[in-house]
Amino acid sequence: MTNEQRYEQLAALDKKHFLHPTTAIAQQQASGPEFIFTKGEGVRLYDLKGRSALDGLASLWNVNIGHGREEIAQVAYEQMKTLGYCSSFASFSNEPAIKLAAKLAEIAPGNLTATFFTSGGSESNDTAYKLARHYWILKGQPARKKIISRSRSYHGVAMGATSATGLKPFRDFTNSLAPDFCYVDHFSTDALREKILEEGPENVAAFIAEPVQGAGGVHIPPATYFKEVRRLCDEFGILFITDEVITAFGRTGTYFGIDHYDVVPDMMCFAKGITSGYAQLGGVMISETIHNDLMELSKGTLLHGYTYSGHPMACAVALKNLEIIEREGLINNARNMGDVLLSGFKDIQKKRSIVGDVRALGLIGAVELVKNKATNERFEEPIAPKVIAEAHKRGLIMRSVVFDQQDTLVFAPPLIINEQEIQELITLLHDSIEAVE
Ligand code: PLP
Repeated sequence: MTNEQRYEQLAALDKKHFLHPTTAIAQQQASGPEFIFTKGEGVRLYDLKGRSALDGLASLWNVNIGHGREEIAQVAYEQMKTLGYCSSFASFSNEPAIKLAAKLAEIAPGNLTATFFTSGGSESNDTAYKLARHYWILKGQPARKKIISRSRSYHGVAMGATSATGLKPFRDFTNSLAPDFCYVDHFSTDALREKILEEGPENVAAFIAEPVQGAGGVHIPPATYFKEVRRLCDEFGILFITDEVITAFGRTGTYFGIDHYDVVPDMMCFAKGITSGYAQLGGVMISETIHNDLMELSKGTLLHGYTYSGHPMACAVALKNLEIIEREGLINNARNMGDVLLSGFKDIQKKRSIVGDVRALGLIGAVELVKNKATNERFEEPIAPKVIAEAHKRGLIMRSVVFDQQDTLVFAPPLIINEQEIQELITLLHDSIEAVE
């Protein structure tokens, strides 16, 4: 069977049986899968039709050490062979999970010293909200239930995570959500103060924010924003949670996104880059203070746990992934290559009439598309999806964000990317924009 025939056969099965996540389902039915990937190596993906594509989004902001790493496969194999799975409930534990929790305590900011493991970002967010509310029950303040998040935030698709997500279309997808979530304008600490007062500080459990908003369009806060957030949370006794699902483990050019802002949250959610996508793992780190309070005040069982919390293979993969990030200096590389990426965006901005604001922090960046640069006027219909289609033809992968009147292309290439590959990305991007201009 030729690869073309294999493609046709698989595409038919895909259309009939594979319900794709976060996908325009009617369109998917009509066109079938554009790429059926068969291999990944470095910053590139290869498909069944023999095409290669530069992975400008590290797939889903997560394949930080790049594709096709033998070392990771070896560690996963050894761990699966030795101990593929064991429970972490109650008195059961395993070496990779213990070592990973200790490693995270070593690298995390401030006094974040204990980790609750999950299988991904959505579970991490739900865990953080539940732990925050449980904490306030133990502290004798059960009215503190409300979770405040920001407009344009994305926290995932579990019920709590969707409820916290500021991007309205995700919440409108179902007609019922978890109660006690509310939203504030992003970057406005005045709005946060007003919201806390409106809800009553005694009713607020936590405020959650991504250090750099990713799926909401890559919005980088002003330098003083998080200091003021921390101050407000302290003033009103509210827990401050950061959602580092995209920004942790080097993405922004520091180990954690919040490191840029020199503040320490009370809890920190992570996932994606902890394993660079090689295994499903996430978690929530909590401060030593909260951990001590939980241990001192809790009389019963911590009634929250996933079958895969502390999965030995996923934790072994994470340890190796962090070792690679450190050994290869990928955090510095993200910072240096981030500068190259941003200057490439600026070149395109000069050359192309429909490019508005461009921005990047380390290797997370965005290019906004506008009808009129001077007035920042948008196109009636977003054109970012058309640019994506052109990019796919040319062999470049990235995503578009069209929520909330945005028309933005977002980027987060693997942290291993080099200067030549960034130049290639910039050329492909330029040509794709030119094709729709
Ligand atoms: N939080 C943030 C900031 C994210 O970007 C994402 C996913 O993109 C999530 C949470 C959800 O993570 P997952 O898809 O692993 O459930």
